[in-house]
Amino acid sequence: MHSTTSLVSRIKRDHPQFAFINGNEFRWSPDTMTIYIDQSSQDFEAFVLHELGHALLNHKSYHRDIELLKIERDAWSHAVLALADVYNVAIREDVIQDNLDTYREWLHRRSTCPSCTATGLQSSKGLYACLGCGTRWKSNEARNCALRRYSITH
Ligand SMILES: [Zn+2]
Ligand SMILES: [Zn+2]
Repeated sequence: MHSTTSLVSRIKRDHPQFAFINGNEFRWSPDTMTIYIDQSSQDFEAFVLHELGHALLNHKSYHRDIELLKIERDAWSHAVLALADVYNVAIREDVIQDNLDTYREWLHRRSTCPSCTATGLQSSKGLYACLGCGTRWKSNEARNCALRRYSITH
């Protein structure tokens, strides 16, 4: 655990504008400028840099589900391109893809028309509509962690 402790202390020292709190999941809270750190997580170092990516990119809320996938992808890109070398962390591509897959699957489930299983389109208000059969639906299935990460402002 020595290396993870020193990684977090370096990151804290370099980013005094953010608070860092131990929690039971990785999470970035834009309202309080706080990064929550799950010390017991697999691939700890990769996820620390991922959350730092969210923080440095100033990620706030998202309005449509598809935007969440973009936010997640951007945070990984920032971690890999701007942070991994600085903090000497090797971020494995399969860790990134596994994580993005959970968002892709969530997005797929939410956007699937309950009547005809075509893929619907989501309006800015969060309602889905099927162009095939005209069904409209609002998915209330929560993305297990991510929906608590970013509040929907509509
Ligand atoms: Zn994320
Ligand atoms: Zn349909």
